[in-house]
Amino acid sequence: MASIDIQNVKKAYGHVQVLHDIDLKIKDGEFVVLVGPSGCGKSTLLRMIAGLEGVTAGEMRIDGKRVNDLHPKDRDIAMVFQSYALYPHMNVAGNMSYSLKLRKAAKEKITAAVAGAASKLGLEALLDRRPRALSGGQRQRVAMGRAIVRQPKAFLFDEPLSNLDARLREQMRAEIKKMHGELKATSIYVTHDQIEAMTLADRIVAMFGGVVQQVGAPLELYDHPANMFVAGFIGSPGMNFLEATYAGGSVTLADKTVVTLPGALALEDGAKVTVGIRPEHVVLAAEGEGMAATVDLVEPTGFGIILHLSLHGLAFKVFTTDRAALSAGPTVHVGFPSKQIHVFDSSGVRANPVAPQA
Ligand code: ADP
Ligand code: MG
Repeated sequence: MASIDIQNVKKAYGHVQVLHDIDLKIKDGEFVVLVGPSGCGKSTLLRMIAGLEGVTAGEMRIDGKRVNDLHPKDRDIAMVFQSYALYPHMNVAGNMSYSLKLRKAAKEKITAAVAGAASKLGLEALLDRRPRALSGGQRQRVAMGRAIVRQPKAFLFDEPLSNLDARLREQMRAEIKKMHGELKATSIYVTHDQIEAMTLADRIVAMFGGVVQQVGAPLELYDHPANMFVAGFIGSPGMNFLEATYAGGSVTLADKTVVTLPGALALEDGAKVTVGIRPEHVVLAAEGEGMAATVDLVEPTGFGIILHLSLHGLAFKVFTTDRAALSAGPTVHVGFPSKQIHVFDSSGVRANPVAPQA
């Protein structure tokens, strides 16, 4: 397995620059997820690592060796596709050994490689089966096994679960995480789904508009989003954003509500800011406490309830697991705990460096 070092990498198609100065060091054995909305450049970056796209500028290194001009087949990198990329007419052993047979590897070597991968992945009892006789999870394991026998330096995944239904996607996500726990293979996984990113990643790389917005452990991005893009992208239902003015360690919302922050920020008094608070952090208070808000809509999700509220015309959401909220209305009382408040400056960059604590 290998480390992957991306230094100042750019990608342009003609005059259109789709990736800007990407800097990323992926450690040996790490599971890194590239996440962002469609069109932000995730697949392009992944394909550049695989060698399927040229590098316009910058350096791409695998295990310290510059690979900018190295042919894809000489990079020892495996792309893992969806389960249906298996050959239907070949059994599991045939699918797993196919690439080594193409390379004319010795028979004993092929047998040993297939047996090794099968035992790591719990596929020993299934080697004679055709793909159609396997569950979705087993097919995914065969697809991984096929990659493992090649002993690649890294595994690359491009939205491997996006065509599956929600239930199967959850199962496969857990399978992939278990496999990574066993194999400890350097992996780069592309998805537009923030839950997939949160649950799978050692580190998330959040991208938008061809620019890396933040790199960090999943809960680092959730607790301390570096800017409004990350704040809004990570978490569901998404973070509430309210326009406000900063002065003397407090923020004043457009309806004149004042929220005192735990500490002063490096902002000028009078600075226009955006206050962010996650729906799960808004507190439903007893009558007489907090601020009175109007209930516009009640959405039960089963696990909890999403209340759509407005405070003197400012719309925001609350998420609660308290079923009493089902009958909330026409007004509720809410509090914005100051430690849970994120403040973003007029350019959308995080202004409070201190961790908002639970
Ligand atoms: P993602 O995988 O995040 O959805 P992509 O990496 O596929 O995004 O695309 C990033 C941007 O690059 C998009 O704006 C897309 O239109 C553009 N792009 C991708 N491939 C090409 C190409 N071959 N020629 C021109 N533009 C491209
Ligand atoms: Mg893509």
